[in-house]
Amino acid sequence: MNIYVIGIGLIGGSIALDSKALYPQTKIFGIDSNEDHIKQAIALGVVDEGAVFEDLAKADFVIVSVPVDVAIVLLPKILDIIPDTAIVFDVGSTKTPICEAVVNHPKRRNFIATHPIAGTEFSGPSAAITGLFQGKTNIICEVEKTAFKLQEKALWLFNAMGMRIRYMDAKSHDKHIAYVSHLSHISSFMLGKTVINKEKDEQDIFDMAGSGFESTVRLAKSSPAMWTPIFKQNKKQVVKTLEEYIANLSKFKELLENEDYDAIYSEMESVNKIKEILNGMKK
Ligand code: NAP
Repeated sequence: MNIYVIGIGLIGGSIALDSKALYPQTKIFGIDSNEDHIKQAIALGVVDEGAVFEDLAKADFVIVSVPVDVAIVLLPKILDIIPDTAIVFDVGSTKTPICEAVVNHPKRRNFIATHPIAGTEFSGPSAAITGLFQGKTNIICEVEKTAFKLQEKALWLFNAMGMRIRYMDAKSHDKHIAYVSHLSHISSFMLGKTVINKEKDEQDIFDMAGSGFESTVRLAKSSPAMWTPIFKQNKKQVVKTLEEYIANLSKFKELLENEDYDAIYSEMESVNKIKEILNGMKK
């Protein structure tokens, strides 16, 4: 089996590592615009060899793991080249623009739109981890538009990697993910900004920062090259979540200014139920 990973960074590299561990006979090829990433990926054993787009004519699997603005440009070109028997899947954090990019392609049935809900704040092939997707959810959109035999091929790989599957339409995906992923990243970036702007003497930040600050600001280490196109593609939903979030922040500020500590207490108490929600998600 020939697997081609386009964009051999955190997600593409982690899928490559799992595929090789599960199926050692498989040959994994990496395609990336960054020559250093190809060299690193080969040196780290993430891929067997580098490849070029024309080689996709020999593919069984193609994994598209590039920033989402690049994915919408590359996907139709990839479908043009692959053989009829190959399955292509993307892993992008937005789904509506990606599904729209291939909606009328003659080989639409060779494509499956996915979003594995797994990751870290690091990028590039050195960030790739074996087992990253174990026990994690993979959201699949518009599955009915993928040929049944090819769906089975992709699901077999996702199941072997230990992923749970959820089916959803692309619009619902983009709406829900704006709250639990896109807003979390903006919140972390802007918390980081607020603290950096205030604490001009960086030593103070490091002296006083505890694990609470570190875990809340962790996502602010994420790549702007990956996140700017996500916010662009999901702008409408992200703006809506920001309005709701800003309203909550303003209300909290108002309660504090008015010294309404009972209301502040009950605001926090009502959000404490997040503990049970998160525990439930882990089961
Ligand atoms: P990453 O580590 O930065 O890897 C992306 C790779 O694609 C990099 O090597 C990048 O090179 C390369 N690339 C950029 N433009 C390209 C092009 N035109 N042709 C070929 N390669 C190109 O990013 P990632 O975190 O794996 O994210 C990849 C995808 O996974 C994104 O669509 C993202 O939305 C999705 N995703 C990410 C996470 C997460 O937590 N990170 C989780 C789920 C899904 P350069 O670095 O030189 O640009």
